[in-house]
Amino acid sequence: MPLQNGPKWIVVTGGVISSLGKGIVSSSIGALLKMRGYSVTAAKIDPYINIDAGTMRPTEHGEVFVTFDGGETDQDMGNYERFLDVALPKYHNMTTGQVYRDVINRERNLEYQGKCVEVMVHIPQEIQRRLKMCAENTKADFVLVEVGGTVGDYQNILFLEALRTMKLKGAPMAFVHVVYLPTPKTAGEMKSKPAQQSSRELNSIGIQADFLVCRASEPIDDVRKEKLSLFCNVYPEDVISCQDLNSIYDVPFLFSAQKFDELLLKKLDVVPNAHTDEFKKWEEFIAKKNAAKESVRIGIVGKYFASGNFALEDSYISVIEAIKHACFKHSVKPDIFWISAQDFETNKKEINVLQTCDAIIVPGGFGASGIEGKILTIKYARENKIPLLGLCYGLQLSVIEHARNILGWNDANSTEINKDTTHPVVDILPEQKKKLETNDYGASMRLGNYPANLVKGSLVCKLYNNEEKVVERHRHRYEVNPELVSQLETKGLVFSGMSPDRRLVEYIERSDHPFFVGTQAHPEFTSRILRPNPLFDGLISAAIERKRK
Ligand code: GLN
Repeated sequence: MPLQNGPKWIVVTGGVISSLGKGIVSSSIGALLKMRGYSVTAAKIDPYINIDAGTMRPTEHGEVFVTFDGGETDQDMGNYERFLDVALPKYHNMTTGQVYRDVINRERNLEYQGKCVEVMVHIPQEIQRRLKMCAENTKADFVLVEVGGTVGDYQNILFLEALRTMKLKGAPMAFVHVVYLPTPKTAGEMKSKPAQQSSRELNSIGIQADFLVCRASEPIDDVRKEKLSLFCNVYPEDVISCQDLNSIYDVPFLFSAQKFDELLLKKLDVVPNAHTDEFKKWEEFIAKKNAAKESVRIGIVGKYFASGNFALEDSYISVIEAIKHACFKHSVKPDIFWISAQDFETNKKEINVLQTCDAIIVPGGFGASGIEGKILTIKYARENKIPLLGLCYGLQLSVIEHARNILGWNDANSTEINKDTTHPVVDILPEQKKKLETNDYGASMRLGNYPANLVKGSLVCKLYNNEEKVVERHRHRYEVNPELVSQLETKGLVFSGMSPDRRLVEYIERSDHPFFVGTQAHPEFTSRILRPNPLFDGLISAAIERKRK
């Protein structure tokens, strides 16, 4: 039953250290509310000046998550979409840059009618306007608001001020403060002092946490609970354990075992609905995940290795999660194998490690580095009949590989890499070229949802359950050269999906291979826990088949 007097607000803040998984905490709360039949939406506040995440390096910021309406947003938006099974509009990811830009634009338009426009009051007002828009447009019962950064940062103070005054003016709001309890080796026990201090820091801004979510290596014990309750002014049952787990998808049930959802609803004066079918479906998903014994090895040919495995996983987070969704559906465990594209360029013999992969993914990317290694990988997968899925750049490089090694166009390339190639099989569209000439880089790619018509009877069409019209999210400037399409589509290469005007190649496959699929889109963004994306689903089925042979 929907709420009569919605929306209710749940604000998630972080303390002590960054990278606590506030996004997973927010998403897990949202998932639990959805399992009780409420509609839930989420908004992420990022205190940086960038208008969006689109201009940041993946190693700097992690993956850029693309929304259906073409937003280049924070990777937490992906967590919300996956856990809540929603498609969020781009304005649900707010940055300091957007807030100031809009206030300044309004001031220039005389919309403040001659008033002195000030940081204090006009900026929090704009933040509130944007948050209310998230609630009004989605009509959700609950709006989750995650405040990026850590309480005590200068950067997020105006956002917290906006939320404090929103509550003061009557918005029903619960504050969840996520803290960290370290266990220093020398102390030999879990320490709660940093959590106490960050909770006081929040108090100094005028906000009292209603709940403390305690991130730690182990569950927190009763002694710590009592202490935190007493010193942070929170009831002992509202101190929630959130120890490290093997899988992020176990967090909702860790919370429900502590009745976190019921306590939250009580705090917001809502009598909890009973669980819907979605609860059962989640339980089944978790049971399948836990029962999976057999693993399949999925090689990802990456190029952001310079900053270590951690940044690497952040850069490809939606791809990794899409692999997991498909694997758990088939009750197998993903064994993700990171392949550095550059390694094959320096040592050609290394390429034989690909033989150990049950499937390979060539993910999206930009620029020239690692490109030749990726092309070698595609050649190997084609010749050795290893299932392959090419995402965006992966499709473009598969076409280059075909042109070079099968058609004999030795210098075939993308003009992104070699402007002077005599065979520009991947080229920039004229409308994109203009943008680059004027340094128009922000939010200027071909972004968001675009439709494609699939060829009836093709593998891709079968994977999409025989749908002949599909829509996926995009983020790219270059395309398979429309002028060369007819010359390229020969000797095994099939263009199995085109844009409705038939100008742009959207999907490719090979007729001489068990599973060789490429898409100009990013299907990883639409994969959901209970609904794996069809292309990933197909890849994992092919991987299982190869493994069992
Ligand atoms: N660099 C390529 C382009 O801009 C591919 C982009 C991507 O993989 N997202 O077209």
